[in-house]
Amino acid sequence: MKQVLFQHGTLALLVPGLLTGTLTIKELLQHGDTGIGTGEGLDGELVILQGQVYQVQSTGHIRQVPGDFTVPFANIHHADYHPLAQLSDLTQAQLYQQLNDRIKAPNTFYSVKITGTFAKMHTRAASKSTPPYATLLATAQNQQEFTAENVSGTLLSYYSPKLFHGAAVAGYHSHFLAEDLTIGGHVLDFALTSGQVQVQVFDTLEQHLPIENQEFMQHDFTKDNINSDISQSE
Ligand SMILES: [Zn+2]
Repeated sequence: MKQVLFQHGTLALLVPGLLTGTLTIKELLQHGDTGIGTGEGLDGELVILQGQVYQVQSTGHIRQVPGDFTVPFANIHHADYHPLAQLSDLTQAQLYQQLNDRIKAPNTFYSVKITGTFAKMHTRAASKSTPPYATLLATAQNQQEFTAENVSGTLLSYYSPKLFHGAAVAGYHSHFLAEDLTIGGHVLDFALTSGQVQVQVFDTLEQHLPIENQEFMQHDFTKDNINSDISQSE
């Protein structure tokens, strides 16, 4: 069976501040039940699990969003994970290294889902900005950070090959949602106590672009520092 990762928008379009929501959650959910993203104006961080869309707001509050909520960027896919390993006592860097060594798929997209307990979790959530939008770097300064210890939950990660940096973040892009919804967001750092690690390798990237959005269609990306700005803000 074809394994498809659906992506709406690109990280590159966030760089110059093209933050308009160009796809509804209702439309997004037609392409999967598991994913990550952000809302219009970088309105928090989204974690999609089993078809439920959770938004971690910059206040730290976590809620489910309505179907008409819109996104400028999101990744979603139909969950079809395979067990990889039960892993324990690893820092973020150690875990990502273990994933590289075990999955051995550096040139394609894949998703890793870890359910377990984390000794430390450090996340951020962007604050919603309003038009005219500033650049991603400026908007990303406007974020709140959260930390928790000994928290249970799900870490949902997408790996993108280096070749696709710009469309996505090269390497791992992870979001977290605590089981009790006390903490979540875009993951900055963590330490895994113990977790069940599952993987799903994609053979197809379905890249959807907001061609109804005139600002996107007419924007000249040659003047933007796409690669370095993404590395700095993501
Ligand atoms: Zn993120």
